[in-house]
Amino acid sequence: MTYQHIVVPDEGEKITCLEFEHCVPDNPIVAFIEGDGIGRDIMTASKRIWDAAVEKAYSGRRKIAWMEIYAGEKAAGIYDGDYMPEETFDALREFLVGIKGPLTTPVGGGFRSLNVTLRQVLDLYACVRPVRWYRGVPGPMREPEKVDMVIFRENTEDVYAGIEYEAGTPENEKLARFLREEMGEDFFEGAGLGVKPISPFGTKRLMRSALRYALDRGRKSITIMHKGNIQKFTEGAFRNWCYEVAAEEFSEHTITEDGLWDKYDGKQPEGKIVVKDRIADIIFQHMLLRPAEFDIIIAPNLNGDYLSDALAAQVGGVGIAPGANIGDSVMLFEATHGTAPKYTNLDKVNPGSLMFSGVMMLEFMGWREAAEMIKTAYEKTLDQKTVTYDFARQMDGATEVATSGFASAIIDNMRNDSA
Ligand code: NAP
Repeated sequence: MTYQHIVVPDEGEKITCLEFEHCVPDNPIVAFIEGDGIGRDIMTASKRIWDAAVEKAYSGRRKIAWMEIYAGEKAAGIYDGDYMPEETFDALREFLVGIKGPLTTPVGGGFRSLNVTLRQVLDLYACVRPVRWYRGVPGPMREPEKVDMVIFRENTEDVYAGIEYEAGTPENEKLARFLREEMGEDFFEGAGLGVKPISPFGTKRLMRSALRYALDRGRKSITIMHKGNIQKFTEGAFRNWCYEVAAEEFSEHTITEDGLWDKYDGKQPEGKIVVKDRIADIIFQHMLLRPAEFDIIIAPNLNGDYLSDALAAQVGGVGIAPGANIGDSVMLFEATHGTAPKYTNLDKVNPGSLMFSGVMMLEFMGWREAAEMIKTAYEKTLDQKTVTYDFARQMDGATEVATSGFASAIIDNMRNDSA
């Protein structure tokens, strides 16, 4: 495919995907969207870290061929006011793996969030958020090291489907009349109305993706988070469909909590993933009091939205939480915070969220040695109390450095590590 403004690097090769398995060459072309606001600072710093890790881990045998693609304000400047050019989607469909900085959602004019647009157009149905603590990161928990979970949040249904009817509009009145007269429902006059679709198709593909991930990484359990005691045919059905996939398609590798007690006296058998479920509200208590009992959590959109940020706060906040939106073949990794516009080009903010999204990307690419190197160097840098302003204000005796300085400290620690 030819592109108007995107320059495909000559020295790279395409990542391909067959039956959910990505085939990654030694010089893969990876797309990146710089992002608005602080995007340039954190992308520049993070790319230096990723490249240094790959170079050291594979002694120069592997190298990412970066390909810039455009969205947000930078795209608008290049594509005559178009914030989300069509060729950005084309490039992601062709090259499959990308990473992005945060994007501003311009206010007014009915403008849709660019992030939501990317997820919907590319059908990136799984929002994957690993949440774990790194030594030295300031946070509110007494034992943050017990938090090591991965949230699989459904990305296309539930409240994200956006089926809502404003009170007082003809559409709202038509639906209200139908519900009252045809369906016998009763609710207050003037209510805003929303529809919460949750389908077997949307739920089952998410569960498959969580199970494949769990198997690939040797994870121990998947907890289905739902509010099925109240919303039986949406959240309750989500729970049932998740169990169905485990029983019908992954029976060799899974066991339910009941089965675990009936057959194995509660002791997890080697090679089996325990599938269990918990009601959404109690999960927030468990996350604080018994986090070690959870591993992978699968949730419909809204539950997953709340849980992702709450859990991130337990290990240092969304400022360092990584994330990815993943479909059957396209994977888009992203910083989970926004554009923090007041810090634009000040070389000040923490690149952690984007940097760890890149770590996640390296892991998905199977380049785990490079990913591990970054994690080790990150902890060493925090041991030295070399941090950006946000952590410096929470730590005694810290040395505050710029975004670029923080990247340099990590790279120095990586290069000096003889392991
Ligand atoms: P925000 O950009 O996340 O910033 C809120 C505050 O969080 C900042 O003022 C800063 O706190 C802290 N922060 C964020 N990123 C940080 C980092 N890397 N290092 C250290 N501190 C960081 O949220 P917002 O101000 O609500 O949103 C601004 C814009 O971002 C909006 O246009 C919104 O639509 C967009 N947004 C985009 C995404 C995305 O692209 N995924 C996500 C959320 C929001 P202090 O002021 O305390 O220093």
